[in-house]
Amino acid sequence: MPFHSLGLDPALVRAATDKGYAAPTAIQAEAIPAILQGRDLLGAAQTGSGKTAAFALPLLQRVAAGGRHAPRRLRALILVPTRELAAQVGESMRGLAQHLTAPPRIAVAFGGVSINPQMMALRGGADIMVATPGRLLDLIDHRAVRLDAVDMLVLDEADRLFDLGFADELGRVLALLPARRQNLLFSATFPPAIQSFAEALLHDPVRVEVQSEAAGQPDIAQRAIEVDPGRRTQLLRHLVRDEGWARVLVFVATKHAAEIVADKLRKADIHAEPFHGLLSQGKRTQVLADFKASRVQVVIATDLAARGIDVVQLPAVVNYDLARSAVDHVHRIGRTGRAGERGVAVSFVSGATDAHFRLIEKRQGLNVPREQVPGFEPVEAAPPADKGTGGIKGKRPSKKDKLRAAAAR
Ligand code: AMP
Repeated sequence: MPFHSLGLDPALVRAATDKGYAAPTAIQAEAIPAILQGRDLLGAAQTGSGKTAAFALPLLQRVAAGGRHAPRRLRALILVPTRELAAQVGESMRGLAQHLTAPPRIAVAFGGVSINPQMMALRGGADIMVATPGRLLDLIDHRAVRLDAVDMLVLDEADRLFDLGFADELGRVLALLPARRQNLLFSATFPPAIQSFAEALLHDPVRVEVQSEAAGQPDIAQRAIEVDPGRRTQLLRHLVRDEGWARVLVFVATKHAAEIVADKLRKADIHAEPFHGLLSQGKRTQVLADFKASRVQVVIATDLAARGIDVVQLPAVVNYDLARSAVDHVHRIGRTGRAGERGVAVSFVSGATDAHFRLIEKRQGLNVPREQVPGFEPVEAAPPADKGTGGIKGKRPSKKDKLRAAAAR
């Protein structure tokens, strides 16, 4: 189904075509006509499905059709969990709006940077705002923005908004919005808190589901490489060189590890940068820009980068440290294989973390064969499962041990 059959303004179709979107993704084909009709929508979709354009295109059309307000009053509010996602959604919307005869004014606001430029930018008014909830409330307190004319609300990555503790802020924002409005809620997962929140928020919503999370993403090949923890950096260096990955996003468990691993790679002449919450917003933006522009080949990140970040043509993600949960794992590997491109997600697994990885596999309904890379074969055994039952320290499990363990699973 082509874009122009969805009821979109030709200027928006042209902008989508300019971006290289040949045809709507599944979520766009379902969501765009429903949003244009003014329906509420519940989208079960992850970043990577094309969900930004799925809400941005019809929203731009509805705001543009509403004509100018004088003074400009905010008509559409998009709440997102992270600064990076706010910047990304804002940029994407501006690109999609560019051919409209009267493009809506789009403001972007997020914390971690000075509020003054954001207040200045709002002086002339804005039609659409993309914001993180905390900074939005700050701007409201400074009387830089009012919500009383908002008739379209988007909650993007609602599960993440809750995870990050934004529930109270959301409640405050909702209380300031007019009761009559169109609501769109997107979430990758639906734990009970999100379900009941969505039920209270949405009126007779159209439900759009793109690919169940448990099924994993078919265009991502998953690999699990067995390696001892102490040799992971060397293996990573080897893979970056050997696999010919133009860009790699590597996930580690701590900010400290991000710094150390990036440092070691740099010493081996690989352009690597850490990415974590202790870096200034300016530095974080710079790292992502350098990554996109291929000035940086490897980014070593904490889970801060697991959601929201969209680096087109990211061929590989490496889990240097495994994700804490299966849901986090899905978000991490979703950074690759986006919008029809093929990606690879490599997880480093050791004797000590194998059981945890098995849990992730089970949740995803997957069975990822274990590989070993010549020269990096692990020699450390798994720690004993139960203290006192007599695991032999330093002994590698034999093939028989492994078979026995597999049968016991
Ligand atoms: P999102 O899920 O919104 O983060 O989008 C993921 C990626 O898909 C982004 O790089 C978009 O530019 C891209 N994208 C969105 N819609 C389409 C489309 N219809 N065709 C091809 N790529 C798309």
